[in-house]
Amino acid sequence: MSMTESDFTSARPRLDTVPAGDPRDRGGKAQPLLIVENLAKHFPIKNGLFGRKRGAVRAVDDVSFVILKGETLGVVGESGCGKSTLARLLMRLMPLTDGHLVFDGDPVEALRGLSLKEFRRNVQMVFQDSSSSLNPRMPIIDSVAFGPRAHKVKRSAARRAAAALLEKVGLSPAMFGGRYPHELSGGQKQRVNIARALALEPRLLILDEAVSALDKSVAAQVLNLLRYLKRHLNLTYVFISHDLGVVQYLSDRILVMYLGQVVEIGPAADVYSAPKHPYTQALLASQLSMDPGRRIEQAPVSGDPPSPANPPSGCRFHTRCPFSEAVCAAKAPAFGDAMDAAIHLARCHLTDPTSGHSLAGSALSSLRITAPETSAA
Ligand code: SF4
Repeated sequence: MSMTESDFTSARPRLDTVPAGDPRDRGGKAQPLLIVENLAKHFPIKNGLFGRKRGAVRAVDDVSFVILKGETLGVVGESGCGKSTLARLLMRLMPLTDGHLVFDGDPVEALRGLSLKEFRRNVQMVFQDSSSSLNPRMPIIDSVAFGPRAHKVKRSAARRAAAALLEKVGLSPAMFGGRYPHELSGGQKQRVNIARALALEPRLLILDEAVSALDKSVAAQVLNLLRYLKRHLNLTYVFISHDLGVVQYLSDRILVMYLGQVVEIGPAADVYSAPKHPYTQALLASQLSMDPGRRIEQAPVSGDPPSPANPPSGCRFHTRCPFSEAVCAAKAPAFGDAMDAAIHLARCHLTDPTSGHSLAGSALSSLRITAPETSAA
């Protein structure tokens, strides 16, 4: 009899006792786990025989925020807005053009700060493509044990720890440990990737579209697993996805990106119920409904995002925003204190009564972008 994925994964993952406190916590409860300050990544555009630089793609541009201990920060935005580049910068998988990171009070790669090796031990990532993250020639138990082995843990101890992790993510080590990636389904492979990411006992997991490639029912199982692991292993998540419903399900706070910048950040309940930035309103208005009688007739904002190699002046959203006025192209909107995790901020002149925008100070709910709908007969 052939077995389906649910035969293997419907059993709840076995977890150890809930840790009372985290001995790795050095900065104290109030210290954000990660402070991101003025982060930027500009990719040079070169041409000609000598590769002369003629510009730069500003994939991430002056981004600042904090990640609190134990929270899930959801990151949303259209394709090309800089979400995945931001994830790789947070992991320090690529050099920064500018900015710096502070992990639990310690500056990363600074004199008397955390070394890159120590930092990467604390921050791990799960990618969208579950197949390419695994070595096709390595049994999965060795894939999970690979990180600890690289940190000089003995083979037997690393394999024992890997078996325990497979159990934690709902895969029986006896049944799956010796299998190769091609013998697993997409959901099982993503569970292995989560186990692999947990092998070095990180404190921060960056999940970049981690469930986007999975069928809905399998994605739901993996999301529940992530919630379960977070509670029991004192984890903090950055959850990146284009799926607003999934982000809402998992996140405590939401960060919205547009053309390499943060345009809105705040508690998830506030951002979803009362979005302040017209771009966030448009994203929410374009969410597809499960109600077959509700049809969106027209996209709430039209056109493609401008090129990050040549972003518009002033507010970067002014070329698509229905509330755009001359001041929007002339002056970049102010953004409040992004280091204060309690407040709900938007990078828009409408939220600043002194900005000079004719509608500034109006009730934002009266200006909310909605998608024109029809009801199916
Ligand atoms: Fe729209 Fe102007 Fe606000 Fe930008 S600053 S989002 S163009 S109203």
